[in-house]
Amino acid sequence: MNRRYLADFDISRISHRFTDVLVIGSGIAGLSAALAAAGNEELEVLVLAKSSLEESATRWAQGGIAAVMVAERTGDSLEAHMRDTIDVAAGIAEEENLRIMTTEGVERVRELVELGTNFDRNTEGELQLTREGAHSFPRILHRGDTTGQEIARALVEAALKKNNILCRPGTFAIDLLDREGSCIGALVANETGQLEAIWARQTILATGGIGRLYRETTNPSVATGDGLAMAFRAGARLMDLEFIQFHPTTLYLAGADRFLITEAIRGEGGVLRTQAGDAFMKRFHELADLAPRDVVSRSILEIMKETGENKVWLDLGAIAEDRIRERFPRILELSRSFGIDIIREPIPVRPSAHYSIGGVSTDPNGRTSVPGLLAAGEVACTGVHGANRLGSNSLLEGLVFGHRSGREAARAAAGLPRPEPFPLPKQDKDLSPEVVTNTSGGELDLDDLLSSLKSLLWYKVGVERNGRDLSSALEQLSTWTAYPLAADFRDVESWTLQNMLQTSWLVTYSALRRAESRGVHYRTDHPDRDDLNFSRHLAISRADF
Ligand SMILES: Cc1cc2nc3c(=O)[nH]c(=O)nc-3n(C[C@H](O)[C@H](O)[C@H](O)COP(=O)(O)OP(=O)(O)OC[C@H]3O[C@@H](n4cnc5c(N)ncnc54)[C@H](O)[C@@H]3O)c2cc1C
Repeated sequence: MNRRYLADFDISRISHRFTDVLVIGSGIAGLSAALAAAGNEELEVLVLAKSSLEESATRWAQGGIAAVMVAERTGDSLEAHMRDTIDVAAGIAEEENLRIMTTEGVERVRELVELGTNFDRNTEGELQLTREGAHSFPRILHRGDTTGQEIARALVEAALKKNNILCRPGTFAIDLLDREGSCIGALVANETGQLEAIWARQTILATGGIGRLYRETTNPSVATGDGLAMAFRAGARLMDLEFIQFHPTTLYLAGADRFLITEAIRGEGGVLRTQAGDAFMKRFHELADLAPRDVVSRSILEIMKETGENKVWLDLGAIAEDRIRERFPRILELSRSFGIDIIREPIPVRPSAHYSIGGVSTDPNGRTSVPGLLAAGEVACTGVHGANRLGSNSLLEGLVFGHRSGREAARAAAGLPRPEPFPLPKQDKDLSPEVVTNTSGGELDLDDLLSSLKSLLWYKVGVERNGRDLSSALEQLSTWTAYPLAADFRDVESWTLQNMLQTSWLVTYSALRRAESRGVHYRTDHPDRDDLNFSRHLAISRADF
């Protein structure tokens, strides 16, 4: 676990580049940061994305973004938005950061609209707002059920238009580079398959979530926890990693991607049923199908155990056909492609890993414990969600704290000299560039390890956990991690697996430490909340080991 760099590299054999602000990630957090930093036109901002610029959890977001935009029309207020968030946060929300998010969120969303984001509007041209579970007012801006796609489009277009933002999709960040404890850029595998050192005055991590550690997840393929693992190796303080939110309703069809079925469907009247037709949620919670996400997820698992089925059914029979077409066009189309007509048939669903509440601990300006390194979005942890996240607050968090990080990085970069790269060793050996090759794990079967890892996390560090399973998972992960983490791989797939192993270990370790149940973290061996011992964030860093 204590390896500093995943790839051994010879600094004299790799290409080098300088930039002012390096942003790793092109989702809502990364691009908001880049646009804010690029406000200083003297600075160059370099954005990396390991896949295309658009491929991100941001693009996959369906429901919308929460902000109090038209309080006079709805009776909503910033205080109400804060209160709703605190009510689900299970006692550990960082209220000052939450105040910043709700207040500045209004201005940031207005800017998103000015950038050209087309949210749905009514016939009078006013923003259409919906209400989601645990929000006490309609305050969710949306664009059908493809809100994230629209936001990502607008942000990518805006970034590409800025002369001082340079985007490099297809560039994989392997590790953060540091000198004397300060981050000075990143080692990457670039678009042409070569190792490259990017030296930066300031670096912003915006690499998103970790859902792909789990067998069942709503997350896109880029969500493999690279940022958390990189930050850990660079010595940053991480926080609250045990809090993984599971989404109760994901399309469950063998062989199909686990497409998220938004809870707005239950908001519109959709009902969860067993195969035999029993509307079971009223047995578990007074709000029945509108109970909080964690309660619905656990109830579905309970029903699956009871019935021996591997799924339950979401019945849209009570929703008018026109309403389904208007509100859920993407789900309608996607389900059709799998032969399900959701107007007439129920959707097979089950829970899956959705959102990482914890992450790299930051201050309100995105600063981490490592000088020169900032973080924003799902990879970061500002503490605004406490131990449970209110739907539609994560896009807002990425937008607000992404912007703040970019502004802060630009401010700091403007006053700093170029970072001093690592010294070149004196040598006379072959100076051909270091290339990325497909080492495919050597004698290791990486595919097998990957699928074992995902199953382990799903069954032992999933919706319900207990000390015995967590300890055995940790032991298993330590064994699995020992060899692959020490090995010197030379390809993106293997580095990704190394990151996934390391992040899984950190999540499991954190879940074992929190011997209570709070928010999304449910321990069957400690089913109650223990405020005396755990009403706080739990941090972890490399220095602890
Ligand atoms: C299906 C789904 C629906 C959702 N619906 C909503 C919703 O309605 N409302 C809401 O508020 N939230 C929603 N969420 C959560 C929300 O979308 C995410 O939390 C948020 O978009 C994260 O944004 P981000 O910028 O932090 O990361 P992302 O948008 O995931 O972007 C991560 C970026 O990092 C890059 N990256 C990662 N690793 C590397 C690396 N090693 N090198 C280089 N680049 C790297 C990726 O290429 C990508 O560009 C949803 C999530 C999912 C999966």
